[in-house]
Amino acid sequence: MRSFTITTLGCKVNRYESEAISEQLADKGWWYAMDKGITADLCIINTCTVTQKAAMQSRQAARKVIRNHPGALVVVTGCYAQIAPEVFRAMPGVHCVVGNTFKDQIVPLADNRNGQETGITLVHDFSTPCAFQDMPIKKFGNRTRAFMKIQDGCDAFCSYCIIPHARGRSRSLLPEIVLKRVGDLRENGYAEAVLCGINLGRYGEDLDPATSLLSLIRRIDGPTEIQRLRLSSIEPTELPEELIEQTAASEHICPHLHVPLQSGDDEVLRSMNRPYESKHYRDLIHHIAGMIPDVAIGVDVLVGFPGETDGAFENTCRLIEQLPIAYLHVFPFSMQKETPAAALQGQVPSGAIKRRCQHIRQIGETKRRKFYEKAIGATSEILIEGKRDRTTGYLKGLTKNYIPVLVEGDDELMNRVVQALITKVESGKVFAERLFNQ
Ligand code: SF4
Repeated sequence: MRSFTITTLGCKVNRYESEAISEQLADKGWWYAMDKGITADLCIINTCTVTQKAAMQSRQAARKVIRNHPGALVVVTGCYAQIAPEVFRAMPGVHCVVGNTFKDQIVPLADNRNGQETGITLVHDFSTPCAFQDMPIKKFGNRTRAFMKIQDGCDAFCSYCIIPHARGRSRSLLPEIVLKRVGDLRENGYAEAVLCGINLGRYGEDLDPATSLLSLIRRIDGPTEIQRLRLSSIEPTELPEELIEQTAASEHICPHLHVPLQSGDDEVLRSMNRPYESKHYRDLIHHIAGMIPDVAIGVDVLVGFPGETDGAFENTCRLIEQLPIAYLHVFPFSMQKETPAAALQGQVPSGAIKRRCQHIRQIGETKRRKFYEKAIGATSEILIEGKRDRTTGYLKGLTKNYIPVLVEGDDELMNRVVQALITKVESGKVFAERLFNQ
């Protein structure tokens, strides 16, 4: 039996694809070399290049794997391999460099290894359109929440973003296949499916006949009987009123929306090529909070974009402070030479970027704490995960509105949905007591 390791960096879509590759290998009799000291036969690194830091971590991961697994077939894939195959071509010990649209070739390549693999580079340059690459998954490791990649690519070309170059044009999985997969997940005992993509809100526009994320959700919500349906990140301009209403009315769709903002300053938004103004974003978030009770709204902000003055940064902080949001993801601007932002004037010094990130992260932490405290006294539906909290030994769970909670209980509760009363927030942790009569 041959063994493999897979190192994954980056987003839910990359993690989904790694899970699919692992499942294909396991189906062919490969086993996952978990333990240290075992030299695997195959090592895959699924890279990310969304920031310079992610790119550096991807290079480090590749070098570490080559050091720890002498003689293994080393395959580097993912967005960094797609954007800069030459970087890994030049790295001693790397055999194959495989772009994002050839990930389904990795398993046949490894399985039919004949020692001739050195120097293989499979990278599509996106000069011609390519179809959605379907990589089915039946189970999701030991997770209780199953990610489902239903869309890939992006046509938005925000001026700081490398992703459209790494993932190509927006393309979607056929709705019939999505429905079948959600049904399979439910059959396999999953209570929650998380729909993910690179630009999820553009789902279905490329299909013939074209469809939409809203139409897909309406077909999943109810008929598939999946208990919980969660959406991953969705752009503010891709949240139609009907989708907000559907989420508000649904028993299954989780009241949790992650809506990137990036900046609260209109001049910076224009320079980022983001298609909305701060007023539109503010009104949208207040509207969602008014429509969907207890909704968790998560926000991305990009700090230190070229031309972001102290005043512009203040505009972002003030907007965030005014918004009824649950948490914040803060990203320091990272110059990507292939993007228009790299050529912009007014590059912000790294010290200022660091200070601004610290400041706005504190605002985010206050928002998160207040959101958790607002839940005290509420009865909530909690999906119990497959592992325990190391500090307390309590079961770990997640509410529909994205609050991680700790609950006392036996292992037989794992991967089950229980009703519980949220009792307290202590050192940033939320505790709940199971309600037995419900
Ligand atoms: S929407 Fe903008 S930030 Fe998001 S992947 Fe597309 S180009 Fe990048």
